Amino acid sequence: MNGTETDTAWAKQALRDVTLRATAARVAVLKLLASKGVPMSHSEVVESLAEFGFDQSTLFRCLNEMAHAGLLSRLDLGDHTRRFELKKSSDEAEFTHAHFMCVDCGELQCMDDYSLQITPSRGPRRNNLGTITEIMIRGHCGQCN
Ligand SMILES: [Zn+2]
Ligand SMILES: [Zn+2]
Repeated sequence: MNGTETDTAWAKQALRDVTLRATAARVAVLKLLASKGVPMSHSEVVESLAEFGFDQSTLFRCLNEMAHAGLLSRLDLGDHTRRFELKKSSDEAEFTHAHFMCVDCGELQCMDDYSLQITPSRGPRRNNLGTITEIMIRGHCGQCN
């Protein structure tokens, strides 16, 4: 079995696990996000899957359905672009990893090989802090530095 077949089998199983039908579009989106390994916007997904001829609105629906089913995380990184990424762990942590955005080229990277913990330096945690969903770190990437 080659890599692509393995990925397809994995994507179908992942969809079955959350009781979504394994449509061609959903399988293609999952495989794309798995292979890129970084959060992608709807328009980036549309562009990357252009050769398959999926409808833009189909892909938009896929992304939201799979996010709703818990397969994808929806990220709002403060630049008015909603992005989606494959959930890397099933635990219900507030956030699983921080993201790094290059201020020069805008490239986004998952910092899932860094550990980061936010704990109050004194006293109990403030209630009005609510839930932390994202930690963004900005800087110059290796390419632009
Ligand atoms: Zn850069
Ligand atoms: Zn990420």
